[in-house]
Formats: sequence, structure tokens, C-alpha cells
Amino acid sequence: MYKWIVIGGGIQGSCVALLLLEEEKVETEDLLIIDPHQQPLERWRTITDKIEMSYLRSPLVHHLDADPYSLKKYSSKHNYASGFKGQYQRPRLDMFNQHSMDLLEKIGVMACWLQGEVSGLSWTESGWKVCVADGRCFVSERVVLAMGVNHTPHYPSWAETCRDHASVKHVFEMDNELPETGDVIVIGGGMTAAHLAYALTQKESIDSVTMVKRHPLRIHHFDSDPGWLGPKYLNKYDKLTSYKERREVIQHARNRGSVTRDLYLKLLQQERTGRLDMYTGCIQEWIENADGTMQLVMEDQEKLKGSTIMLATGSSVAMPGKEWLDPVIKHMHLPCAPCGFPIVTKELEWKNGLFVAGALAELEIGPVSRNIAGARKAAERILQYA
Ligand SMILES: Cc1cc2nc3c(=O)[nH]c(=O)nc-3n(C[C@H](O)[C@H](O)[C@H](O)COP(=O)(O)OP(=O)(O)OC[C@H]3O[C@@H](n4cnc5c(N)ncnc54)[C@H](O)[C@@H]3O)c2cc1C
Repeated sequence: MYKWIVIGGGIQGSCVALLLLEEEKVETEDLLIIDPHQQPLERWRTITDKIEMSYLRSPLVHHLDADPYSLKKYSSKHNYASGFKGQYQRPRLDMFNQHSMDLLEKIGVMACWLQGEVSGLSWTESGWKVCVADGRCFVSERVVLAMGVNHTPHYPSWAETCRDHASVKHVFEMDNELPETGDVIVIGGGMTAAHLAYALTQKESIDSVTMVKRHPLRIHHFDSDPGWLGPKYLNKYDKLTSYKERREVIQHARNRGSVTRDLYLKLLQQERTGRLDMYTGCIQEWIENADGTMQLVMEDQEKLKGSTIMLATGSSVAMPGKEWLDPVIKHMHLPCAPCGFPIVTKELEWKNGLFVAGALAELEIGPVSRNIAGARKAAERILQYA
């Protein structure tokens, strides 16, 4: 019997586990973190490595540690050159990752790690029973759902017919790598697509890179206005009793499909030098030619040709873990908003010691919930209960 089980060991789950251990709310033997990967943050590190992102979008104070200047001190102590960049001092990705891994290692998170994929959750007389795909089950007093959304890639409707094609890849799939040759088409207009397109233009062996997006590039420093981190916007948001309205506010507040100015300028530079083509419009159809190359037919009937299509179209909008959460939602009458996401208390409790973090906590935490700042907020709220 565990005191806490955390499902998902990404940024969110690791942050909750870290704070529980750090604040001595639980001993390592009473905490279990279940995640399909070998190590914490593996999905985050794989995706960001693949697109060759070198600096985060968020500022230096957003990381897993309690002290806001922890990363700054870490950078000085370990002599990182150019550890931070720009007006908002965005941290170097490798430094952020090493800082996170060192923290998690020091506090003993690996001693709580179980590699596996949760496929069942039920409420029993002894507590929450969590089962993994290989059949093993564990019981815990409390459970934190922190599965994130990056394991559920979004495929646009035109891509449904070609998603299993060997040369059509989604960046969020773990088992594919960047192409090394040929004509590559990158789909998407946000940070992931922009980093990816830029990285591909840097490869001499690639013949051409085309970035296809539905709208002109939108420039924003952050995912959402920093006012969403504190009372400026949250006071009003917290007063909203309609969860439909909360969802609309979140959708409006998040700068989806936007890029930072420095990345925008880098793309323009590549376009000017002929290394990148940028195309704005909607894709109607995907066609495979007899020679194995592919064509995308655009709404204006223009045809774009490529040998590989890389989708950077984000994650699905559906609630993560829906397949195994649905039965427990029905059985326990867990409250859900019209968008299907959990309605939880201020401490992020759904019911009987079942907590949420990250995307699942969005209706309570607000637009920053999925981000690193949101992970700290979720961990602090859950700890109020612990
Ligand atoms: C390219 C990119 C750049 C970003 N940059 C920033 C940034 O600069 N700043 C910022 O604040 N945010 C950023 N974000 C947003 C956010 O911080 C990341 O998406 C982050 O990875 C979210 O953490 P997470 O824990 O919710 O999800 P993940 O990191 O995906 O971790 C969730 C974990 O749960 C596991 N899981 C899923 N289902 C199960 C299951 N059934 N059983 C067990 N485990 C399961 C997953 O496999 C995964 O390991 C970025 C996102 C992306 C995609």
C-alpha cells in the first residue's frame, strides 16, 4: 500500500513528486511514480531534442525547484556559457534538463520510479487501485494524474489516410527521427514547427524545407500573457462559475500557434537565403505518387511536393487517459466540464484523494497549467492537502 502514486513522470508528475519528497510529506518507499519511460522527463527531452530546441520559451524562474533563482545559481556554479538568452533570460535547454535531473536524483525520485503504462484505475475499500498494462496492480491512499498530452499527437483530418505511411511522421511520436535527406514538408505554425523547420534548414544533406501553416506567423514572447501567473487575470478567472466559460477564456488566452521574435527572425533569414519556403494555406488532400514521393494539394489547388512530411500539429484536444478514466468517472460520478475535463477543488482534488496536474488541472489553474510554471502551481496546491 502506497501513500501516493503519481501517474506520469514528465515535467508535471516529477514536479509534484519532487515537492512531496522535498517537503517530507512522504518517504520514498511510500511513493510510486509510474511512467512508460526509463527516466523522468523522457518524453519532454526526446521531443525538444528532436526539434533541436536550444533555449526554452519560458524565463529563468520557471523550473522544478522551489527557489526561483535556483537555475541562475546552478548556471553560475557549473559555469554554463550563455546559460540564459534575451530580455526574459530564457534558459538553455540542456542546462534546464541537467538542473531538473540533478534535483530529481538528489531527492530520490528514481527510487520511486516504476516503468509501465497505466491502463486501469478503480476505487476500492483499501484505496485507489492502479493497474499497469502488464497486469501488475498497486494500491495507494492518493493518486495524482499527470499524464500530460504530448503522448496523444493530433493528426489533421487530411492526414488520417496517411498517418501510417513510413514517410509521414508526427514529432510527438517517440520512435521517429528527423529525415537526413530529401524534400521535407513541415506542417504547423507554432514553436515546435518553427524549431523543427529551422533545424532541418541547417542540415546540408536536406534538399529543401517547406513550412506549411494555416495562418501567417504570429509573434508572442510567451504561450500566454504573464498576467495569467498571478492575480492580474486569475482573480477574475477564479470567479467564473461556468466551466464552459473557463474553457473559452483558456482558449482565448493561450497564444497557440505562435512563435518568439528571435525564432521568427531566424526563419525569415532562412527564407531569404533560399533554405526555407513558407506557405500559408489549408491542406485539402494528400496524394502519393507512383515514384514514392508525396503531394499536398492546397485549397488554392497549388501542389507541394515532398519526400517526407513532418507533422508538428500539437496534441489531441481530448482528455488524456480517457480510455481508462471513463469507467471510473462513470462509476464514481466524477464531475466533468462540457469539454470533458475534470472539475476539481482548489487543492486539485477530484474525489477521495484523486488529484490532477498539468492539462487535467487546466480549468482550475488557468492557461499556464500545462507549462512549467503550472507544474509548480499544481504541486504547491496538491501539497496543501498532503
Ligand atoms: C516543443 C515544446 C516546447 C515547450 N517549451 C516550453 C517552455 O519553454 N516552457 C514551458 O513552460 N512549457 C513548455 N512546453 C509545454 C510543457 O511544459 C511541456 O509540454 C511539458 O512536457 C508538459 O509536461 P507534462 O508532464 O504535462 O507532459 P510530458 O512531459 O509529456 O509527461 C507526461 C508523462 O506521462 C506519461 N504518461 C502518459 N500516459 C500515461 C499512462 N497511461 N501511464 C503512465 N504514464 C503515462 C507520458 O508518457 C509522459 O512521460 C513545451 C512543450 C513542447 C511540446
